[in-house]
Amino acid sequence: MIVIHSPEHARHHSQCEVHNGALVPSFESPRRAEIVLEAVTAADLGPIRPPSADGLAPAAVLHRVDYLRFLETIWNDWQSAGRAGEAMAFSWCTHAFRPRQEPLGLDARLGYYSFCVDTTINAGTWGAARSAADVCRTAAAVVCDGAAGAFALCRPPGHHAGPGYFGGYCFLNNAGIAAQTLRDGGCARVAVLDVDFHHGNGTQDVFYQRGDVPFASLHGDPRHCFPFYSGHADETGAGPGAGATLNLPLPPGTTWPTYAEALDHALRWLGGFDPDALVVSLGLDTFAGDPISAFRLETDDFPRLGERLASLGKPTVFVLEGGYAAEDLGRNAVGVLGGFESASGSGGNR
Ligand SMILES: [Zn+2]
Repeated sequence: MIVIHSPEHARHHSQCEVHNGALVPSFESPRRAEIVLEAVTAADLGPIRPPSADGLAPAAVLHRVDYLRFLETIWNDWQSAGRAGEAMAFSWCTHAFRPRQEPLGLDARLGYYSFCVDTTINAGTWGAARSAADVCRTAAAVVCDGAAGAFALCRPPGHHAGPGYFGGYCFLNNAGIAAQTLRDGGCARVAVLDVDFHHGNGTQDVFYQRGDVPFASLHGDPRHCFPFYSGHADETGAGPGAGATLNLPLPPGTTWPTYAEALDHALRWLGGFDPDALVVSLGLDTFAGDPISAFRLETDDFPRLGERLASLGKPTVFVLEGGYAAEDLGRNAVGVLGGFESASGSGGNR
């Protein structure tokens, strides 16, 4: 399997986040990608290539132009204002307020374009987010060119980023960028399956009214689990996308047998759209050892997950999302990717 990776990801390194009422080191760190890179290298998964495509074009289809401009400029504005530390929001437009146009103040803009307090912006954030977009567009292009599978080894993750907002460590919707690239490359329909522990609210949002990119997600029940306000079973799409979203919330403590049943259901459902390709939002925070999640998958379950993903029989782009048990991240990622390769017999396409 071809792996696309850029060291530019390390430019985004959040120093802190609010967790359980305290300021703690960010769970989302460059170390995560480094560990996965070490593991895919040691496993000889396939050639590791740098990105060669500009991911901003597909990103511009999914994200609002004012939001992209905000991401590009907010750090300079923050610095110009003499602010110390990292840029982070502390006030949001809740449902009791009337949404208006983009506000002017720094803190108001940060709140306007985000939905939670776990995600900070620093000097390298925009560059790292752009590099992740480039990685995803390149990985999708590799699949457009005939590869059976490609792995976008990137961060910061993307599936919580919506048309006009960041949060959940995400800025640009990486999986969406991969799917849009596949659409632009000639795929009539592209399925997106999100197996991260947390609901892919951003991916759902960017495709909610589109019928060409069916989206399925298995995740912790949002009544208990972040991002809380998205991912319920009755969210099924709208307009041309009506019926093209499937949410399968599962209870905290879910183990492999229950998970596998939901996974099979999601794959059958996606297969019903007869997609030309599959994008997998590969979050590995379903692992029992994850510090901020609540499923109970074990390392031995991840190859099984990869085998089942191969059963769809479609060219597949894997996009790295969450997973915060950093020291276990590499072997679990290789477990999924290796399971996919052995089940699909695509090792020869390396
Ligand atoms: Zn997650």
